Amino acid sequence: MYDGAIAPEWFGCTTTPHKNKPIGASKHMHQLTYNAKAYSAASPTSGLASTKIQRREPTDRDVQIEILFCGICHSDLHSVRNEWSEFMATNYPIVPGHEIIGRVTKVGSAVTKYKPGDLAAVGCMVDSDGTCPQCKAGLEQFCPNMILTFNSPDKHLGGVTYGGYSEGIVVDEHFVLRIPSNLNLAAAAPLLCAGITTYSPMHHWGVTKGKKVGVVGLGGLGHMAVKFAHALGAHVVVFTTSPNKKEDAVRLGADEVVVSRNADEMKKHAGSFDFILDAVSANHDINAYINLLGVNGNLTLVGAPAEPLAVPAFSLIGRRRNFSGSMIGGIAETQEMLDFCGKNNVTADVEVIPIQKVNEAYERLLKSDVKYRFSIDMASLKSE
Ligand SMILES: [Zn+2]
Ligand SMILES: [Zn+2]
Repeated sequence: MYDGAIAPEWFGCTTTPHKNKPIGASKHMHQLTYNAKAYSAASPTSGLASTKIQRREPTDRDVQIEILFCGICHSDLHSVRNEWSEFMATNYPIVPGHEIIGRVTKVGSAVTKYKPGDLAAVGCMVDSDGTCPQCKAGLEQFCPNMILTFNSPDKHLGGVTYGGYSEGIVVDEHFVLRIPSNLNLAAAAPLLCAGITTYSPMHHWGVTKGKKVGVVGLGGLGHMAVKFAHALGAHVVVFTTSPNKKEDAVRLGADEVVVSRNADEMKKHAGSFDFILDAVSANHDINAYINLLGVNGNLTLVGAPAEPLAVPAFSLIGRRRNFSGSMIGGIAETQEMLDFCGKNNVTADVEVIPIQKVNEAYERLLKSDVKYRFSIDMASLKSE
């Protein structure tokens, strides 16, 4: 996920009351903990190494999950290296990971949707206040008191939340998701961030059969966008700077591939798109893509370039075009996305690695040397 929109007030919410807090629960109850194996980073330059962390014993509404797979998201790397320090400084030690697939091992007495043995998943969020207009609308990702899966204040144990590079996690039932049993679990892990990040804006802006959809950038996010747009029945055009990605784009579901450096190829598509998803995090000419939108067309950013983007007003005015952003999705929508993936057999293309290769994987991620997402096999943590 791209956390550029995160409000600083998130970090002052450790005492916010929560609807899910067991009534009458004593403080003592929240402090029962157990040790769990994990991989953490001690500083921006230390890399990740084996450690033990504390998890809370499940409270009434908690689900305890043994983690089987955890995807590696680019935001794990940004957070581990404290590259987003201006708006979300990293607290060390950090245990990243928010693309979590596992099996339920224990549930609290008030949990109704899960039982031990069930498959379960956790994405980018583990809590919110449950009372604000965003929460009531099922948009927990925009709740001012939303708690991220890692590096957010942990109201149960103090300190910060620890993510999925661990043998287990304990999460409020509301933030636990169901995984369709037909999906490959390693390949399903990235659905929890890369999947919902690309599905949500397409859903919101009405991508359906017959629409013309562009995807800019064919990486972890972009490859999921191509799969979703194709599964939704759209005519999919992939924009890439590397002609050698053409074949792969078609394999993933693209109907056409445009090399964005080729001005003639770009011109052919001027004013013709209903929707374009831009998943590029490097600085680039956004106007070249806005000009490809038709009347009422929409371009949504899910990548987060460091520099502000220059958008001439007339590019938008002339055809009532929309230029927008999007960040993950709410819990109900994430479940809907997972169910859609189950029905349409959509998963990420993953390279499965043991946790011991995680530092190497980060270096490869920086070079885009992965097709298209790493998924950590958490069984590898047992030998630590
Ligand atoms: Zn992510
Ligand atoms: Zn809320």
